[in-house]
Amino acid sequence: MSNSTALTFCGGVGSVTGANFLLETSGKKILIDCGMVQGSRFADEENRRSFLYDPSTIDFLLVTHAHIDHIGRIPRLVAGGFKGKIHSTPETHALVSIMLEDALKLIEDECRQNGTLPLYERRDVSATLALWSDIPYHENRQLVEGVSVYLKDAGHVLGSAMYEISFLDSDFETRKIVFTGDLGNSPTPLLKDTETITDADYLVMESVYGDRNHEDRDSRRKHLKDVIVETANRKGTLVIPTFSLEKTQTLLYEFHELEEQHAIPSLPVFLDSPLAIEITKVYQSMKKDFNSAALSEGPNIFKFPRLKHVVHSEESKAILHVPPPKIVIAGSGMSNGGRVLHHEINYLPGAQNTLLLVGYQAAGTLGRQLQDGVKEVHINGQKVSVRAHIETISGYSSHKDSDHLVEFVETAAKSNPKIKVFAVMGEPKSALFLVQRLREYLGVEARHPELGERVELI
Ligand SMILES: [Zn+2]
Repeated sequence: MSNSTALTFCGGVGSVTGANFLLETSGKKILIDCGMVQGSRFADEENRRSFLYDPSTIDFLLVTHAHIDHIGRIPRLVAGGFKGKIHSTPETHALVSIMLEDALKLIEDECRQNGTLPLYERRDVSATLALWSDIPYHENRQLVEGVSVYLKDAGHVLGSAMYEISFLDSDFETRKIVFTGDLGNSPTPLLKDTETITDADYLVMESVYGDRNHEDRDSRRKHLKDVIVETANRKGTLVIPTFSLEKTQTLLYEFHELEEQHAIPSLPVFLDSPLAIEITKVYQSMKKDFNSAALSEGPNIFKFPRLKHVVHSEESKAILHVPPPKIVIAGSGMSNGGRVLHHEINYLPGAQNTLLLVGYQAAGTLGRQLQDGVKEVHINGQKVSVRAHIETISGYSSHKDSDHLVEFVETAAKSNPKIKVFAVMGEPKSALFLVQRLREYLGVEARHPELGERVELI
């Protein structure tokens, strides 16, 4: 009798979004993440394609973190017959309920506009949450005989976890495969650092910024300050498209710090995102996951005097009538939907205004077009000229850059130089560049798998 183990790359290969990996071992099928593919629309058509497996045959789904490109297709998996167990940290569980509820609204809006059927319905989201069960960080948990998981902090967003999965090889020796999910840009202003991994035989790792380094972390706050001051001096409006999870909380904390230090003028700041407001409450209630510097700041780290939470859409539209200078933080982070679009229609044509990009802008999104310097864009069927200043601060990225991805593997390879690395969740040129660096600098076996490829492990 022998035990075979195989890994199939079912999504999140050749692109940043749509993470979905299948591990088959000890006769069980374990999925890692089931994310949405995101591009020009919030829920791109690709998400309607069938899965590369029959959902009813899957035993476990392990969720690394609550970003929609890691969880967005779970209700579709459940609608397709999945009845197994879903695991994540309790933090991710709390965030997933909010994220899927919001995704459902965006999906319904898109379907109304395009006359298509929704990707999934409310009952599928409820059925998804009913299958959930928590595994805290640093607790060894046996899934079935011979297969156990251990979750480590990835430092990417609140609750983000790397999964160390121990399994039995064909000789019934214990082996270890690690799925990183997304890896945080440690040290971050708020979260604890990414933990190190040891004794891994296989590593399935993200490569979003495999080919680029971020600006110096010490200069990110100064860059933010400069953008605010310059926009205020021009009596302009600063629009920041943000991701509601993590990026917004990091920015609020930075605004809080800059105001306390009197480094920026006191301006009205509109947090125009009901989703970000809800998520900020979850962050506030789970402060134990913050790093010691953020913890020592006390209870009000996401507050400052002229911050206004904007819940209703009429209030969002009324921001236009507030005289500048002012700051608007709104979703979505890649400008492929959400309230930021009407602010972009209003403020992109004005040369006194600034659009500040602080996160990854996927190929095909409006955010990427603006980052690339396009002078005219189409938003909700309107032609919009772009005269506003377009700024990017890469230091607030919540992903490790190329040097730090290499450093992460270097540490992992110390305990096992024979580690085999699969670089995924990056555009091909990022993933391939990382693969080349890992081979050349560290001499480890690394490769960029193909979508749908199945690999037999040991
Ligand atoms: Zn993520």
